[in-house]
Amino acid sequence: MIRFCLALFILASLMSPAQADQSAEKQSRLILVTIDGLRWQELFRGADPKLVADPKYNHDQEKALARFLNADDRAAALMPFMTKIVGKNGVIIGNRDAGSCGQVTNEWWFSYPGYNEILTGKADDNINSNASIDNPNTTFLEWLNEQAGFAKSVYAFGSWDAFPAIINANRSHLPVNAGFMALDGEPSAELDVLNRLQSEVAHPFDTVRHDAFTHEFARYTMRTKAPRVLYIAYGETDDFAHEGRYDQVLYSAQRTDEFIRELWAAAQADPQWKGHTTMIITTDHGRGQTPKEAWRHHASPRATQGYLKSLNTYPDGIVGSDAVWMAAIGPNINPAGGKAYDMAHCATSSQVAATALKALGLNWQDYDPTIGKPLDIFKH
Ligand SMILES: [Zn+2]
Repeated sequence: MIRFCLALFILASLMSPAQADQSAEKQSRLILVTIDGLRWQELFRGADPKLVADPKYNHDQEKALARFLNADDRAAALMPFMTKIVGKNGVIIGNRDAGSCGQVTNEWWFSYPGYNEILTGKADDNINSNASIDNPNTTFLEWLNEQAGFAKSVYAFGSWDAFPAIINANRSHLPVNAGFMALDGEPSAELDVLNRLQSEVAHPFDTVRHDAFTHEFARYTMRTKAPRVLYIAYGETDDFAHEGRYDQVLYSAQRTDEFIRELWAAAQADPQWKGHTTMIITTDHGRGQTPKEAWRHHASPRATQGYLKSLNTYPDGIVGSDAVWMAAIGPNINPAGGKAYDMAHCATSSQVAATALKALGLNWQDYDPTIGKPLDIFKH
């Protein structure tokens, strides 16, 4: 008996390092992506021929955009990964042409209130401006970073310089790389070039960097730190739209689709990620549709009377800019799910946080039992 126990002990001590490795490889992981103000219209319909044909919005040659228009499936021509891979192997909610509905629950319909809703699971009426004020609410990213197995493995990247405030990096101590911040990391030639280029290239917006830097910094971190949770907030689509540059919105949407494809491909190529990574993709708000020029902007009726007074020619707000979409792909996501969200029962941005926590195998109520419930998109 003693010999048997000893044998078991030796066997156990021999197995434990391998088991530890194996459990690390089986750890659930999450990639959360947001694309600022990308309309459901572009995601599901592709390029809008009327906007492409308008020289006010398309400064490019129309023929340069012909590839977006002259396609059997315009949505797939614009965002092939979202349409063909996520749309088939995962779930996308919010195609209103097909009676599927997503919407925000906050009453502002612009960015900070939208990101707060996504990241905390509920709207906060007091988050009513885009000013970089430290968020009094605790995002699920901050909460995760305090949970066993997640400490120091949650990373956030954003093109917009408000993200350190939205995620309250001062309090959460989460690594949030956003705006024009250089990325700290193990010194390497690649990181050195990225940091130098970011300060050397011309940039079109004061508060939003090129999404390419956000993406490359996130990919660098994905390779070098193996985070369990990666949040990437792309931003160009919104700024080009506000400027009225529909051509640039289309180019940006296509680049972002390729970025997302790269993230997913990287996750599938790495045993630490493959098979237990869920990717959730969504947006912080919609945009208008009618009158024609309303596609550029977004604001609720309350917002146009207050913080967004510059849009007060829209006393009823920019109708439809509360319309959003949400998508997910991963081992526990049911491609046949999400059917319950019709125009009478819209999915909401406030459900994204609980969906993310459920995808990680956690009890979302431990974070906050009052938030929106997980989306009904899981296999079990
Ligand atoms: Zn905007």
